Amino acid sequence: MTRAATTGPGGDETLRAAVVEGCRWLVGNGLVVGTAGNVSARRDAEHFFVSPTGTPYHALRPEDVALVDLDGRWRGGRRPSSEWRIHRDLYRARPEIGAVVHTHSREATALACTGRGIPAFHYQVAAAGGADVRCAPYRPFGTQALSEAALVALAGRRACLLANHGVLCVGADLDAALGLAAEIEDLAAKYRIALGLGRIEILDAAQMREVLDRFATYGRQDGADPDLVHAADPSDGSPEEPR
Ligand SMILES: [Zn+2]
Repeated sequence: MTRAATTGPGGDETLRAAVVEGCRWLVGNGLVVGTAGNVSARRDAEHFFVSPTGTPYHALRPEDVALVDLDGRWRGGRRPSSEWRIHRDLYRARPEIGAVVHTHSREATALACTGRGIPAFHYQVAAAGGADVRCAPYRPFGTQALSEAALVALAGRRACLLANHGVLCVGADLDAALGLAAEIEDLAAKYRIALGLGRIEILDAAQMREVLDRFATYGRQDGADPDLVHAADPSDGSPEEPR
């Protein structure tokens, strides 16, 4: 997938713009309809930027994105998302988290309405950090109880479902959290299709452990593969004349 938003250095305006672009990316990829869902990016140890409550994403501007601290004080922008507690509690509890994305994406939410998470039916489930994606029990939206249930379901993971509600994904930065939101939606769709086909071969703990180990270096340019050799690029040396 390609996406332009990044959360690199550049200050508050860059982060506000990245939150807006992240929201629009979710809409553009069919992961959000209307004003459902919310996006945040950590600014520092004590603050994060979060999308506003009840604002249609097509009308969202960077100046609408509020700055919120871990005590719930907000300034700038519009009133924060009703799920600001989830974002606050995640940034407080997990220093490695740089971004949080919440959606009501169709397939994953439909699965969450059955109270089920996503088991290890496909190795890619490990993208969420473990052998499954749990489903947090139902709690009313916007409540501290929902935030606490989500934190438990997210233990050791970067994604969870929220029963009768939606999906929650976290990442080191916005690109990672948004990409995972798309990944979870795709996995939920495949799981639904597989359920309809009959008995599913669930990968066991050792198989998923191996996947998690391989994911630790997957996609890295210095990833180890003894059978893959980087050949010398002819353009690095003196160009050969065509004969
Ligand atoms: Zn929601």
